[in-house]
Amino acid sequence: MDIIRLAIVGYGKIARDQHYPAITGNAAYRLSAVASRNAQVDGIAHFPTLEALLEAETPIDAVALCTPASVRTRQARLAMSHGKHVLLEKPPGATLAEIETLKEEAHRCGVTLFATWHSRHAHCVASARRWLTTRQILRVDIDWKEDVRVWHPGQAWIWEPGGMGVFDPGINALSIATAILPRPFHLVEAQLQVPGNCQTPIAASLDFVDGVNVPIHAEFDFRQADTPPIWDIHVETDDGRLSLTDGGSRMLIDGVLQEEGPDAEYAGLYERFAALIARGQSDVDVAPFRHVADALMLGYRHTVEDFIE
Ligand code: NAP
Repeated sequence: MDIIRLAIVGYGKIARDQHYPAITGNAAYRLSAVASRNAQVDGIAHFPTLEALLEAETPIDAVALCTPASVRTRQARLAMSHGKHVLLEKPPGATLAEIETLKEEAHRCGVTLFATWHSRHAHCVASARRWLTTRQILRVDIDWKEDVRVWHPGQAWIWEPGGMGVFDPGINALSIATAILPRPFHLVEAQLQVPGNCQTPIAASLDFVDGVNVPIHAEFDFRQADTPPIWDIHVETDDGRLSLTDGGSRMLIDGVLQEEGPDAEYAGLYERFAALIARGQSDVDVAPFRHVADALMLGYRHTVEDFIE
């Protein structure tokens, strides 16, 4: 297969921390350009915007959109209309409906659209899914708590409409839950804590049930200051308690470690993107995003103290 000439759009935290090493560490790709208003990468062609990159007719095959969701759909449409394959950071957009238009556009333009869920590529997610297929699930508890000041420094967009607040990391937990649990589930109640000066929640408490009334409870919190983050999912079954911890990189049964592995989520994403391009396919699953939309639609809002970074 030909090398995929790729441009990163929006060179912020996740582009620097994860996309750059994953792309440059995969022989299927060449990082050909970066489009970012305020950031550059030594030795790589730079453009302030995606528009400038496309107007310059830079030879690229694909773009990785690492900008906030509120601007990503416009950028994805533009890139696809120029015949470029598109990898979307999570969440895939700011609204559910716009993802439908993107799917149609990808089909019409004959390009690959990949809505990524990096947490689904965590080391133990596939093993957890396999283990659960033969057990009866009794209840699920999700704890996803981190310090917003550490993990989202200077990201004012996270508090704006479309920024999703604590659901920005919380959706990672939902992407794992929707991948490992055998049945679809839906929200029945949500409590949202919203700082007085913000548009999006700083914490959320969610209750779901699945089709056979198994309860699924989730606690998301951005106020985990001075303590390590918690990114854990616990599943009680008729045959023991499965725990996926550290974002899915460790799996325990009844507290006994079964498996653990290195963080290779973005390596997995880029392998999958190359495979989708080779097969001429797209992969756009909105299941985790739908749960967030439901929480914002159904949730009780409680105003809490202002957030000052
Ligand atoms: P970030 O640090 O704010 O980076 C995003 C970059 O996009 C900014 O540095 C900015 O670069 C550009 N940008 C911001 N607003 C823009 C606008 N209105 N128009 C055009 N470009 C704009 O955010 P991030 O943490 O990397 O997150 C980006 C996406 O990745 C989010 O959807 C997030 O959910 C996802 N993600 C983040 C993490 C994480 O741990 N941080 C993990 C996984 C996924 P310029 O100013 O140079 O243009």
